[in-house]
Amino acid sequence: MKLFSTRDVNNKSIFKDAIFQGLAADGGLFFPESYPDMSEFIKNCHGMSFNAIAEHVVYELIKDETSKESVKRIVNNAFNFKPEIMRVSDEISILELYTGPTCAFKDYGASFLASSMEEFLGDRKEKAVILAATSGDTGSAVAKAFEGKENIEVVILYPSGKVSPLQEKQLTTIGKNIKALEVKGTFDDCQKMVKEAFGNADLCSKVNITSANSINIGRLVPQSLYYIYAYSQLKAGNEIIFTVPSGNFGNLTAGLFAKNWGLPVKQFIAATNNNKIVPEFLTTGTYSPRASVQTPSNAMDVGAPSNFERMMTMFDSNVDNFRNVLMGDFVSNEDTIKTMQRYYSERGQILDPHTAVGIFATERFLNNNKFDKNTYPIVLSTAHPGKFVEVVEDAIKVSPKLPEALSSLLTKEKISTVIGNEYSELEKFLLSNY
Ligand SMILES: *Cc1c(COP(=O)(O)O)cnc(C)c1O
Repeated sequence: MKLFSTRDVNNKSIFKDAIFQGLAADGGLFFPESYPDMSEFIKNCHGMSFNAIAEHVVYELIKDETSKESVKRIVNNAFNFKPEIMRVSDEISILELYTGPTCAFKDYGASFLASSMEEFLGDRKEKAVILAATSGDTGSAVAKAFEGKENIEVVILYPSGKVSPLQEKQLTTIGKNIKALEVKGTFDDCQKMVKEAFGNADLCSKVNITSANSINIGRLVPQSLYYIYAYSQLKAGNEIIFTVPSGNFGNLTAGLFAKNWGLPVKQFIAATNNNKIVPEFLTTGTYSPRASVQTPSNAMDVGAPSNFERMMTMFDSNVDNFRNVLMGDFVSNEDTIKTMQRYYSERGQILDPHTAVGIFATERFLNNNKFDKNTYPIVLSTAHPGKFVEVVEDAIKVSPKLPEALSSLLTKEKISTVIGNEYSELEKFLLSNY
């Protein structure tokens, strides 16, 4: 998979190197030079297993770099879980992406990246330090995916007091090769500190840092797979609308890749909370990143979405090209909570706040547009409601049942290192620990 940097087309890499670089040296994000045409395969993939689709697609992408056997190992070490499609209303289905070890969609990217790194570190005899900023779910998925992996250390930065208590437990109770840095600041501060670390040549020469955030191309590729899998589960002839609850826009970018490989998608809907920078851009043509605001769907509280740069590359920086495949909508806090209440009282369905954002945006879209009965709207359900227990309890006055993987964490002791929101503090920590 030949890649170039979004900031300099001459800055090139291939998949198995790019996953260790994270960001390109010029600060850009890796982007594929071309899109293999998989439309024939996709057309005929109905009824295949998730892992069989994954093996085929990943091999198509990286067959110049590695063997079929190695792709098989990567895929099967990464995925012992798969998505499910479930109807939640007469018209809308959700794609449940929360059946992995930390009950959120980020398990797909994190597990695949961890198993790819393990596969390709094999004979490099190097130690890698994964550095990740998290608004909640990334960190826990990454921590869990890399737990106990040889020659890999993990450092997670999270904004103090701005992730749910359960998310914090997920980040801070694994121990072993996983360290949690509790930053006195916002998620954007954490993300900025991490970016600065990758841009610091001196630090990079001393510590072999690499990224596992959604900026890492190794996180995006596996996320494309479940869009194809969702299609494979439906009858031929359906016209899919995918609604993607979005923060850093990694998930959505992955869906756009799948479309570029030949997946038939009628429409993508980018659904955000009040952090509505991208929907606003789609309407006005002006992109104005700014500080994030807090909402009930906190994993999407992002004011400067990192994958916007990839989408700009994909669409030649032309807003009309975006609009041909993508529409945006943002959902207020009130509508998010009301959607959770309505689905609970009318259908007994407990939604997590992120999925609720996606469902409300989809309902509004269906109300405003006419479609025939082949239209199949699918909302990506990004997390188990048990991960956002406080918001859910507050909204519907009922406690979602926690999956065992989560409930067992509650009694474990939190271990974190508190630091300020200055890059220098992160640097000091890295230099003295690795
Ligand atoms: C990370 C996350 C999102 C946003 O995904 P992006 O790829 O950053 O757009 C949405 N919902 C949940 C539960 C998340 O953890």
